[in-house]
Amino acid sequence: MDGMASLGDELNFTAEASEEESAQSHGGNPWRVLVVDDDPDVFRVTELSLKRLRFRNRAVRLLTASSGAAARAHLEKEPDIALALIDVVMETETAGLDLIRTIRTELGLYDMRIILRTGQPGQAPERDVILNYEIDGYADKAELTAMKLFTTVVAALRAYETVSDLSRLTVELEKRVAARTADLERLAMIDPLTGAANRRHFEMRAAAEITEARRCDHALGAVVMDIDHFKRINDRYGHAAGDAVLKQIVDIATLNLRPCDLFARVGGEEFAVLLPGSDREDSLATAERIRKAVASAQIEADGFRIPVTVSLGVCALADEDEHIEPAISRADHALYRAKVAGRNRALLTRPVRPVSCERDS
Ligand SMILES: [Mg+2]
Repeated sequence: MDGMASLGDELNFTAEASEEESAQSHGGNPWRVLVVDDDPDVFRVTELSLKRLRFRNRAVRLLTASSGAAARAHLEKEPDIALALIDVVMETETAGLDLIRTIRTELGLYDMRIILRTGQPGQAPERDVILNYEIDGYADKAELTAMKLFTTVVAALRAYETVSDLSRLTVELEKRVAARTADLERLAMIDPLTGAANRRHFEMRAAAEITEARRCDHALGAVVMDIDHFKRINDRYGHAAGDAVLKQIVDIATLNLRPCDLFARVGGEEFAVLLPGSDREDSLATAERIRKAVASAQIEADGFRIPVTVSLGVCALADEDEHIEPAISRADHALYRAKVAGRNRALLTRPVRPVSCERDS
């Protein structure tokens, strides 16, 4: 963009209309500029210097306060103040500096631009205030002529526009990052092929369910399941058909589970199920229901009708189980026996100790 043309657009002097009228006729919200000074003459001079200023087709509306305390009241009511022109010495020697600390730290207004003005050149602000509170300028009132003030204010409004645009953008980006992170966390818990929970999800949920089962003295069933001769299915019908079988098995199992149960794909053709509240017998009944549903399903893939069966090992959480691993390992043992016994069956673990509703003391 041409620099001179852009300057001409931004700095548009309107002689006739008042700032309110101009703002309304252009529909532009005026820039709010807060003038804090205990000298009434300063308001008058400031108003005169900025009266005709238009920046980005928006006029300037002056808000005035004659003390730090009065300024604070304005700031609490009007958060969208672009610029504050602040006197150093007012009700106290440091009222202006105190106000700046309030603006930045207490009120958390970081976008607002701040210009300090002093009538006492000896009253230089502390260097750390200038550095730490992002002050855009420090001027001796005697040296701040009308033109200089005008230029300073335009530069500050431009800076405010940039800073507040960046703040808005940052908020928007943070929202997007949070949404994306939630998506990624969800994806990190799911097996992409079948949409079932993955091993990581299973382990996290198992830990939570064990805590819950112990707290409420509820049973917790665990089932492991393998697709029988899955390698043969892949070899005979191809991997695409194998994948289709996996998906359909997941659908069938899910249909035969409650919403509170967790069905996970924990390996190639290996699955695990958590059954909150289910004891050994309940869990066996659920496993048997899944087995029958798979055996009687019409599984089709790649134009073939593929006969599929599953074997399952079933157990329930024991009192001494601190983690899910020992239960899964017992269920795996039962699964092994189911396979040896000819597959297409669900077997319970052999109880290693008497199963009782009462806990040993
Ligand atoms: Mg003063």
